[in-house]
Amino acid sequence: MFNKKIKFFELILFMCLLFTSFACKNNSTSPTDEYGYVPLLEKDVEYIQDASKQVKNIILILGDGMGANQVKVTEMVIGENRSLDLRKLTSVGQIKTSCLDNYVTDSAAAATAYATGVKTVYERAGKDKDGNDLKTILDYCHENGKMTAVVTDKALSDATPLAFTAHLNNRYKEPLTIAPQQIKSNVDIMLGSGANKFKANQSLMEEYGYDFVETKEALMNLKSNKYIGAFSNLNKMMEASIYPTLPEMAQKALSTLKTCDKGFFLFVESGQIDNYCGDGNIQKMAEKVVTLDRVLRISMNFAKENPDTLIIVLADHETGGLVIKDGTPDKTWFTEETRYHTPVNVPVYSYGMNSNEFNGKTIENTEVFDIMFRLMGFQK
Ligand SMILES: [Zn+2]
Repeated sequence: MFNKKIKFFELILFMCLLFTSFACKNNSTSPTDEYGYVPLLEKDVEYIQDASKQVKNIILILGDGMGANQVKVTEMVIGENRSLDLRKLTSVGQIKTSCLDNYVTDSAAAATAYATGVKTVYERAGKDKDGNDLKTILDYCHENGKMTAVVTDKALSDATPLAFTAHLNNRYKEPLTIAPQQIKSNVDIMLGSGANKFKANQSLMEEYGYDFVETKEALMNLKSNKYIGAFSNLNKMMEASIYPTLPEMAQKALSTLKTCDKGFFLFVESGQIDNYCGDGNIQKMAEKVVTLDRVLRISMNFAKENPDTLIIVLADHETGGLVIKDGTPDKTWFTEETRYHTPVNVPVYSYGMNSNEFNGKTIENTEVFDIMFRLMGFQK
């Protein structure tokens, strides 16, 4: 009897230990992040891989200058105990980034390829080589009743968001025409910096039905479905408590876009990766890759609830010729003399509905538009 009792207690003790060890293990692998999200595993989303079925929502996430080595070095910087959600995306391919007249592209021509499916010339945004305005994926979304959003941690007039929202023969010329063009584009949500450009066009924003906000608090309290948020007059977003972070902006945009029955197109740019590669600042570069990864996590959580969503993560080009060496990463790992763009292929990661369209392929940057267009079931 006594022996049996001992065995019973041993059994209870063993069960307790087992339970505790499971609980701890679970805890260490699934902590919530600073935005309250739990990292998802690949198995958490039921993939639909049937190209005959239409994708309802697309979330396109772009890391400016984020080549394959920028991702690898970020992992070295953040350490083995943390991993990027990017690595959970099992559908991975490569993109050729050259523009029409230059092997090494600039950001405007590269973003034009994604936004319109047409290769254009260096420093041109939303126009072809002859100067004709090109229809963007957002224009097709509007025609098909979908909502659209462009979110960046740079100025909205910066090259990448520019190619999705305006048409310029040269990104640096006629800067005063940019904000009016963007307002007339009717893109439902635009978030970034460059407030003064929009404030100079207050009546036009009113005419086109936009609410305008300049602080995080005002953004989060917005109830409307059509708004522009421009935070500070600088050409890139500052890290300050009165301004939203990139993941917070993406989250707010998603909460508005998901109310559209026909679906949406959300473009999010982590634009400062390029700047920090240009500066040779490995730590800050890694920070901005992690920021992009948080946007991805929010998007993956959305896709889990909405399996007709496709997420694509890519770059416009690589910046700085970053190589992997032995030892601790530092600025000598950037090998491009001027730390400007390089023409190496960049990775494309995808997730969710029909994400296998990108897997194992090396494609031209213009083909990203073609795939999005086809999967959303659009007709020219
Ligand atoms: Zn770029």
